Amino acid sequence: MAFIELNDIVKVFKDRKRGTDMLAIDHVSLRLEKKEFLCLLGPSGCGKSTLLNMIAGFEFPTSGVVTVAGKPITGPGADRGMVFQQANLMPWLPVWDNVAFSLKLQGKSAAERRAAAQPFIETVKLKGFENHYPSELSGGMAQRVGIARALLQNPSVILMDEPFAALDAQTKMEMQEELVALWQRYEGTIVFVTHSVDEALILATKVAVMTHRPGRMRELIDIDLPRP
Ligand code: ADP
Ligand code: ADP
Repeated sequence: MAFIELNDIVKVFKDRKRGTDMLAIDHVSLRLEKKEFLCLLGPSGCGKSTLLNMIAGFEFPTSGVVTVAGKPITGPGADRGMVFQQANLMPWLPVWDNVAFSLKLQGKSAAERRAAAQPFIETVKLKGFENHYPSELSGGMAQRVGIARALLQNPSVILMDEPFAALDAQTKMEMQEELVALWQRYEGTIVFVTHSVDEALILATKVAVMTHRPGRMRELIDIDLPRP
């Protein structure tokens, strides 16, 4: 069994107002192993976020099964870290406590949270910004905090939904390079949603192409690029 499996996934959204059904995902299957970096490519509205949200456990398939490490997904879990297009940071918490947010929920002390956050803050190159607040950060820095927050839980899957889409071209390029470097040291699987072919070719070891709605997977391309 593959590390991540999507078996014949169908997703129908109900429009309660109109009383109609909308087919968002139309029989999609996918298998991913550890260490793979998948870019999920396709036009806006084709169902990429929905597919990602089903691996995250935020959405459930209408039919079909999603498994990670052999277990069907029953909801969100620390084994799957999520990074969104907007970093969604807590504006009242400094960088270090945003990174350690999951530990705050577990009731860990400030000293423990600070110590746990530090290596991840360094991984995403934010050393020196520990005590800054989200309003003092650039867009790229905020995304770095979001990535550190996801990494802190030591997830075996990192799910990223257009995390660099709102960044300027220069910052985007830097973040892409940093993500490839991070991936080289990462033992898990990355699933990265983008509508940019360029971005997919820079990042991915595997590209899945979805078509316009209803979302179907038309191509799965293995990329064997030499890594820097
Ligand atoms: P993408 O990420 O590729 O832009 P989405 O997965 O966000 O696509 O959306 C796929 C389709 O499903 C779109 O038509 C979208 O409007 C619809 N959709 C997504 N989420 C919901 C929802 N919670 N309720 C109803 N329709 C939804
Ligand atoms: P994107 O295209 O960047 O994925 P969208 O604006 O399509 O983002 O969707 C943002 C969120 O809103 C999605 O996670 C989805 O769950 C929800 N959503 C999208 N379309 C609809 C819809 N028609 N009805 C209700 N919720 C929706």
